[in-house]
Formats: sequence, structure tokens, C-alpha cells
Amino acid sequence: MSDSVNKLALIIPVHNEEENIVPFYRAVKDALTERKLKVLPADSRHFIYEFWYIDDGSTDQTLLQIKQLQDKDTSVHFVSFSRNFGKEAALYAGLKYTQNYGYVALMDVDLQDPPELLPVMLTKLITDRLDSVATRRSDRKGEKVLISFFSKLFYRILSQISSTKLVSGARDYRVMSQQMVQAVLSLPENQRFSKGLFAWVGFRTVYISYDNVNRQRGNSSWGFWKLVKYAITGLISFSTFPLTLVVALGLITTLLALLGAIFLVVRKLLDPAVAIGGWTTMTVIIMFFGGLQMFSLGIVGRYIAAIFLETKRRPIYIAKESK
Ligand code: UDP
Ligand code: MG
Repeated sequence: MSDSVNKLALIIPVHNEEENIVPFYRAVKDALTERKLKVLPADSRHFIYEFWYIDDGSTDQTLLQIKQLQDKDTSVHFVSFSRNFGKEAALYAGLKYTQNYGYVALMDVDLQDPPELLPVMLTKLITDRLDSVATRRSDRKGEKVLISFFSKLFYRILSQISSTKLVSGARDYRVMSQQMVQAVLSLPENQRFSKGLFAWVGFRTVYISYDNVNRQRGNSSWGFWKLVKYAITGLISFSTFPLTLVVALGLITTLLALLGAIFLVVRKLLDPAVAIGGWTTMTVIIMFFGGLQMFSLGIVGRYIAAIFLETKRRPIYIAKESK
């Protein structure tokens, strides 16, 4: 490990980003000049960094652009997928391929993740002895109003109902030590929600904020529905609260129906002459069985959730140190 300590892999998932490959490369080169990358003055902490483009099934000239870069610069590497598997898959592949680097950074190619922050993040990581330095946007200026609204709502709800705490406005942009990467890779689940996984594995992470930057070129390939799907994956992977809600709702309905039934019976007993409408009786019965079914479904759901958790085969614990 020791000789790889100062090697940093930049993992860059790209999907149809032909216009961004070269500008991104230049911007990083500018930001990480030799001088700036000496993160600590006295000892030899300067970083050799290499590019790892993960081509997520691009159908434009993205791959060609990367290959042309590679012809000129041997520090450019790539992995190209057979089709579009999604950003999560690309991030996972990136982490898999760069296990011999001491540090990795995850970055978007559209320059929404400012490269100037990299030296700052690395310095913080080393001087404060952290395992990860991540970023969050302090605002969402320039983002579509609808997307902004639902994103905020999603993070608020998920933080409320999940024991894994997500930071609001958190981006995927972060640097991590290889030790933390190994922990993330030890979670073998297929449906990955990286923001949640990074939080789940623990370790010491510090967030730095920056003002939102808009995409420089090209279009985001995340439509509204892709984001909704992403949100559902996040919700399902990190919370069983919706099931608890069903159980509670079922229980409450059943109890209400029981109360109603008791009320009807008592009234009939006290005053045998009273006529109880068929409609009222029906309502109580329907409510009772409806509630019972909801309650049972919720319980079945809890078991399925338990099976789901087991099938993810996450490690039972992650050790950081031992002697
Ligand atoms: N990306 C990817 N696969 C996809 C969609 C996006 O690898 O299916 C990449 C994309 O090329 C970019 C990063 O993920 O480098 C973030 O995507 P984008 O800028 O579209 O997302 P946003 O910034 O709107 O969240
Ligand atoms: Mg973007």
C-alpha cells in the first residue's frame, strides 16, 4: 500500500458527454498544477493523479474523445460499458478499477464539481486525518424549480425516516481514502444508492459547501422520471418506514372498526328496540376486515424487508482499526 498512498484516481462517469471530455480534462490540469497539488508543505505529500473515465454506454463521440486524450497522455484511462447502466454502476466500476490507488475522487464531467476544490479537499483530508471529504451545494440556484422542490423534499423525508443520515444538497463529488473505498465495495448490493452507502459505511467524513455551478455544456441525461426512480431506490434501500406506516394504519383502522362494533352492540343491548341500519353494520365490517388485511400485509412486508436486507449481504460491521 505504502507506495500507492500518494496516488489519486479521478473517477469520472460519462454518458454522452463528447463536448465535456476535453474541457474537463483541461480544467483539472489547470486546477491541479504541481504547486497546488503539494497539499502539505513540509513532507512529501504531493499527489500523482490519473484520470479514469467510465464511459457509461455513450452513443456519441465520447469514447473517441477519451481515446484521443489517452494517445497524448498516459495518465488517462477508461472503462467503457456495453450499454448505459446508469451513473451508480459507473461509480461502482470506477471504484473497482482503481483499488491500487491510495485515494480516489468522484467527479462529474460537466464541471458542476469545481476542480479548484480538489486541492482544498485533499489538504483537508490529509491534515485533519479524515477518511473522506465530500461536498454539498449551499444552494440550488439555476436548477429546475420542480426538480429542486422534489429533491429537497426527498432528502428531508429520507433523513426523517432512515437511520442512515443524508446531508441535504450532498453531491457525489468527494475524495476518499482507499480504506473507505474498500468498505463501500464490501457492500455487494446490486441496486446501489451511493450517497446512502457512503453514509452507511461510517468513517470520518467532513462536508464542504460551495455555491451551485450550472452544467457547462451538453444536457443532463437525468430526466424527471429517472430522478424519481433514483429516489425510490434510495428510499427502499435505506428505509422500511413505509411498511411500518402500513402496519400502523391497518392497526388503527381495525381498532376504529372494533370500537364501532362495540358501540353498536352496546347500543342494541341497552335499547333492544333500536334499529341498526345495514349500511352502518356493513361499514364497520368492511373497515374491520380492510384494516386487518392492511395490518397483515404490513407484517408480511416486514418479513420481505428482512429478506431484502439479508439478500443485500452487507457486512455486519466494518472495522477501522485493530491491533
Ligand atoms: N452519467 C452517467 N450515466 C448516466 C447519466 C449520467 O455516467 O446514465 C454521468 C454524466 O455524464 C455526468 C454525471 O453522471 O458526468 C452527472 O450527470 P448529470 O450532470 O447529467 O446529472 P446532474 O448534474 O444533473 O445531477
Ligand atoms: Mg451535472
